[in-house]
Amino acid sequence: MNQCKKCKKKFAAEYNYCPTCGVAFENEANPGYWLEKARELKIKGRIRAAIEAYREYHKFDGKNPYSHKSLGELYYQMGEMDRSIESYLESIELKDDYADTYYHLGISYYRRAKIRKAIESFKKCLELNPAFAISYYWLGIAYYHLGERQNAIQAYYKLLEFNPSSFIANYHLGVNFNAEGEYKKAIDHLNKLKDCCSEDEAVLYHLGIAHFESGDLAEAVNIFKKAIANSPEDKRSEKMLKRILDVSEL
Ligand SMILES: [Zn+2]
Repeated sequence: MNQCKKCKKKFAAEYNYCPTCGVAFENEANPGYWLEKARELKIKGRIRAAIEAYREYHKFDGKNPYSHKSLGELYYQMGEMDRSIESYLESIELKDDYADTYYHLGISYYRRAKIRKAIESFKKCLELNPAFAISYYWLGIAYYHLGERQNAIQAYYKLLEFNPSSFIANYHLGVNFNAEGEYKKAIDHLNKLKDCCSEDEAVLYHLGIAHFESGDLAEAVNIFKKAIANSPEDKRSEKMLKRILDVSEL
């Protein structure tokens, strides 16, 4: 005999779900019980217990792409990248047109230092859903990691198309253009962050570098001084300022 925990009505043992409210009965031989338990544990952040519940569920039903994806997310949170990748691939095997799974797979590959595979996954995500803007962010990160800065720049420009005032896109464009030696463009993008983040020590540091490298030492000194005044613990700007001032005194 099953009793529904929601409506309290009783039903025969062969039922897995309450016919009235659709809640799974608490019965360990019931796959729905494990699935509900797993979802509930996941929401509560009880990662290890949720993983166990999904594994129990998969003993009954291994053909649910969403549960494999959820398991992949849990392994990711545990820092178990190989298992996370395995679960996402299993999910994709069952449903290969779900952009979100490729997105998460890409991040797990990136964390596992499989950068080419990460790029492939982010691209597949965007192919399935071109509006999945945050995938462009990760694509940029992955290309930058490989030193393919022109590709990174293209990815951040795409991100800007979706969100023209995006902090992270303008910031990374600044960093990438600096690394490419295109300081004027770096300054343009970093200056776009003046309104939102003129106090940010990382923004100021890269802006200072762009001015320094393009020969505008006076402006570089001003910016590094501002960075240090805002964040006295900013060692990078302090080091640069010291370097400029020491040389100038010679
Ligand atoms: Zn019920």
